[in-house]
Amino acid sequence: MDFGEQRIKMVQEQLRARGITDERILAAFMGLPRENFVERAHRDDSYADHPIPIGPGQTISQPYVVALMLEKLEIQKSAKILEIGTGSGYQTALLAKLAGQVFSIEIDPQLSTAAAKRLSELGITNYKLKVGDGLAGWKEHAPFDGIIVSAAPNHVPRDLVKQLKVGGKMILPVGDDEQVLVSISKDAEGLQSEEFGAVRFVPIRSPANEN
Ligand code: SAH
Repeated sequence: MDFGEQRIKMVQEQLRARGITDERILAAFMGLPRENFVERAHRDDSYADHPIPIGPGQTISQPYVVALMLEKLEIQKSAKILEIGTGSGYQTALLAKLAGQVFSIEIDPQLSTAAAKRLSELGITNYKLKVGDGLAGWKEHAPFDGIIVSAAPNHVPRDLVKQLKVGGKMILPVGDDEQVLVSISKDAEGLQSEEFGAVRFVPIRSPANEN
C-alpha cells in the first residue's frame, strides 16, 4: 500500500470507526502527509496505530489521540491556539488547517528547526514557533481560545490557565506514570474540568526544576 492508501485507511479505521466525527478534523488528517513528519528509519510505520520515535526520547503521538484532543478543543476557524511541544510539527500542521493562528513552543531547538522546515515545505504559514519552556506559555500572544499540551505535566500549569480566554479550552495529559486526558474550560463562573480516560505521553520537561 502506498502512503496515500495508508492515510485513507488510517482515517477510516483509527479515527472514524472509533468515533471521531468532526469532518473538518478528518479532512485535516486526510490532507496531511504524516510520513513527512516521521524519521526516515520509521517511515514505514508512519500510519501505525501507536506513537513513533521522532528524536531523543520523544514521540509523535498516535493519530487517534491527536484527533481526540483536537475534537475536544472545539476549534473555531478564527481561533488563536497555543501548542506546547511542537515535536515533529505534525499536530502544529493540523492545528494550522483548523484554526486561524497557531503559536507553538518546543523546548528542543533541533526539533523546532526540523518542524519549521517541514511546515514551510508544505506551504503552511499561519503559525509561529518558539524555542523555550512551554510551561510559561507565550504571554505576548495571550489570551488564547485554545491550548493543547502534548507532553504530560503532573499538575495543571497555572501560567497556561491564566493565558486562556474566558470561553476558551485547554486540553492536556496530567499525571506521572499514569496520566489522564483532562480538559479545562474557562467561563465567567471560573474553571470546569472534565476527564477523558487514561493516556500515555512523554513527561513534560520542567527547566525551572531541573539541575
Ligand atoms: N505534538 C508533537 C509530539 C510532541 S512529543 C508531534 O505532533 O510530533 C512532546 C514534545 O514536547 C517533545 O518534542 C518535547 O521536546 C516537548 N517538550 C517537553 N517539555 C517541554 C516544555 N517544557 N516546553 C516545550 N516543549 C516541551
